[in-house]
Amino acid sequence: MQNIVSDTGHQPWPPSVIPVADPGAELRQCYDAVTQAIESVLCSGRYILGYEVDAFEREWAEYLGARTCIGVANGTDALALALKAVGVRPGDEVITVSHTAVATVVGIESVGAVPVFVDIDPSTRCLNPALIESMLSPKVRAIVPVHIYGQPADMVEILAVAKRHSLLIVEDCAQAHGAEIAGRKVGTFGQAAAFSFYPTKNLGAVGDAGAVVCNDEVIAEQVRELRQYGWRERYISDMVGTNSRLDELQAALLRVKLRQLDQRNRKRREIAERYLNALVSTGLVGPSTIPGTLHAMHLFVVSSDKRRELSEYLTQAGIATAWHYPQAVHQQPAYAGRIRGADKLPFTERFYERLLTIPCHPDLTDEQVSRVCERLTTWSERPAPKPEPQRYSTHGVTR
Ligand SMILES: *Cc1c(COP(=O)(O)O)cnc(C)c1O
Repeated sequence: MQNIVSDTGHQPWPPSVIPVADPGAELRQCYDAVTQAIESVLCSGRYILGYEVDAFEREWAEYLGARTCIGVANGTDALALALKAVGVRPGDEVITVSHTAVATVVGIESVGAVPVFVDIDPSTRCLNPALIESMLSPKVRAIVPVHIYGQPADMVEILAVAKRHSLLIVEDCAQAHGAEIAGRKVGTFGQAAAFSFYPTKNLGAVGDAGAVVCNDEVIAEQVRELRQYGWRERYISDMVGTNSRLDELQAALLRVKLRQLDQRNRKRREIAERYLNALVSTGLVGPSTIPGTLHAMHLFVVSSDKRRELSEYLTQAGIATAWHYPQAVHQQPAYAGRIRGADKLPFTERFYERLLTIPCHPDLTDEQVSRVCERLTTWSERPAPKPEPQRYSTHGVTR
């Protein structure tokens, strides 16, 4: 990889680029414990819905303060199975946000339900509870709040609206493992919640994995049947189900990584704190700190009127950036023009013109975090640089 030189021209940066996510780094740190756990699965002779899945389900529910957890194949399935189990039926409308991973909407549509978009609150970047009522219809059955970037949505207000109109809630917690509102973990506020353990999430597997969490044994039993062909007992299908099981190897690894989750989330918040301090005089807007909530800092996303220049400015210093996401769901070709509410998302659309993700994960070294901070500190939302004047090469040829 080529050496990256700072814009002052004399300070060479280390050759490596600071990545937005580094899922291999955590694994290298707990490699021995992970290989031991995996070996024990290999030797057990039991590879599907065995001891490890059972133990992980218990441990994950306990960690969250939820009654039950059911391991499934991925976060999209978790959302779909949760919606089905709580009673969302084909044709029912489900209120959610367009500012999310497309998987949220894939999960909703995969059970035949119809997504309806509500705008975000710019301070949380999550579903704005005050706008839900304006989008109600007799078909609306459920709300899927997304705790985007690890920031808890305003569940107190969302619960109040849901209660007033007898709506179900399935939380999308795919980016918010360990986030809290007033000491209570997200994933415990609705009828059910969906988690993803995709490798880059705060708790990540080395492949696909997910879980449904709930406090109701009837819902839990439904999910347990749905994830395995609708079986109530072996070989006897009670209902039409699917195959979406968490496997023993991923569960064994997740159990090892779960022990580090709180410490790693703390590290994420410490890094975010340093970034927020660095942002103070730059004019950039980072994630808000909402009193009483614990942010899981899955992603550190700033908003900037000059995000392309900012991205370039960081890239020059060897700092990777990303867009989460390049387009809101309603702007993507598969969804454009067909989702109710998509014409009333001014805050979502404004945010998508300005967002930029900066590396914030627990495997960054102090030195890397300092490098990002220094670079951020010297940024200001100054006017865009004028286009380069035309230059003439030494051969006198216009370029
Ligand atoms: C990652 C993610 C999902 C889906 O998870 P998969 O395991 O990839 O299916 C759902 N919602 C959000 C907000 C996500 O970030």
